Order: sequence, then structure tokens, then C-alpha cells
Amino acid sequence: MIYRQIAEILQKSSYVVCLSGREMIVEDGISSMRNMETAYSIETKYDYSPEELFSAQFFSTRVEKFYEFYQNEVLNQAKEDPGISFQALAELERMGVLKATISRQLFDFPKRAGCQNVYDLHGNIYEKNHCPRCGREYPMEYLRDAKKVPLCEKCRIPIHPGVTLVGEMINIGRMTKAAEEVSKADTLLLAGAYMKSEMAQQFLKYYKGHSVILIHSGSARGDQDADYFISEQAKVALPAIIEELKLLRAGQDT
Ligand SMILES: [Zn+2]
Repeated sequence: MIYRQIAEILQKSSYVVCLSGREMIVEDGISSMRNMETAYSIETKYDYSPEELFSAQFFSTRVEKFYEFYQNEVLNQAKEDPGISFQALAELERMGVLKATISRQLFDFPKRAGCQNVYDLHGNIYEKNHCPRCGREYPMEYLRDAKKVPLCEKCRIPIHPGVTLVGEMINIGRMTKAAEEVSKADTLLLAGAYMKSEMAQQFLKYYKGHSVILIHSGSARGDQDADYFISEQAKVALPAIIEELKLLRAGQDT
């Protein structure tokens, strides 16, 4: 049984790192802008593609429209309680198995579920929402609930969201640390992402271990490049692996 086999690998691993992909947030009810239908409906509604709307250029030239989009399509999807798959990551971390989680998603789900060592490569909607002039930071709710463009109370200029916009540099320090985590890993858990996904391609080059465990529903080009592939939703596979891991550990105690 594959779950047993994966549990055995995790049990033997000394440093497991997870790349948490887009499918994990989609499973959790977030409509991803990379989804064709969502992208199309956004383009119909705003006359621009999600990429254009979410760009630094749009923020600086058409900030009203930027915030209409950012409030309605991004911030309104925020939720406090992430689902089963993120809770499973947090449990793996508590069990001492998972050492770090890397994500490009903006909703802070791994940390909200209880993961401690998380690298949000593109930032998240809660942190570092700041005034470009005085640097004062504002909570997500201040941006989400603003009736017009949210302005710095002191400088009266638009607040820049803490997330990385299209066309902006990603935080190099954060990227370097995440790459270091991957280079330390003996096992890499690629959950809710494809081998050919941008994130996987970004990090696989740093990985020096021998066990890439790939988990996503359906199938995709490149699946065969993983050492182990589970064609299943992360919210199904991860709890099943944890169950097996607990059985393994209980067996060892007796
Ligand atoms: Zn200010």
C-alpha cells in the first residue's frame, strides 16, 4: 500500500520539506486565478486579465481598479480556518517529521493551521501591508473593509499590500532561505503541485535527496519524474499517510 510505503520513508527521513502548491488552496475552496474559468470570468468582469490587474504597474497607475479587484477577488476569500490538508502539514511538523513548508500562495494557510516554519515566497495578505512613504503597517481588515482605496491615515496615499505583485522582485532573503531548506532535505514532499509547476522547477535544482513524493489529483506531464506519485487530493492523502505513520510508531513502541 502506497500510504504505508510513504509513511516508512517519512519515518526514516531526517529532514522533510514540503512545497505546498496551488491545488491545496483550491481543495480548500479558494478560486485560483490561474484556473482558466476564473481567469475568464475576472477578465469579463474587469476588462483586464488577473495578471494585469495584480501587477505593480496597475497598482501605480489605476489604484481604484486594483483595489476593487484585490478586495473582491483576493481579500474576500481570506478565511481563518484552513482545511484538512494544511492541518495535516501542521501535524507532521508537530510529529517532528516536517521541518519546513514553502508556499507561493497568499492566504497564510500553513501558519494558520499551526505550521511554525513557513516560507511565503510571495508574502501573504496579512503581513507588511504598508504605506510606501512612512512605512506604517496596516492589518488585512483595514484593506479589505475600506470603502474606497485604503489610504495611510497620516500620508493619505494608497497602502501597498504586503504581497508581491506581478513585476515586483520577490524577497531575495526569503527565497534564499527557502532554497537552503530544500538543499538540506532528504525527502521532498510536493503536495498539490506538479513536477513541471513553476514552484517545483524553481526548487528541484536545490534538492540533493532521493525521495521526491508527489501528491496531486489526476495526472500531468512529468509525474513519472517523481520517485513516488500519489494521484490523489492532498486532503485525502496526507491524513492517510499520517495514520500509517502513527501505526508505524505505535508498532515500534511495543
Ligand atoms: Zn504613511
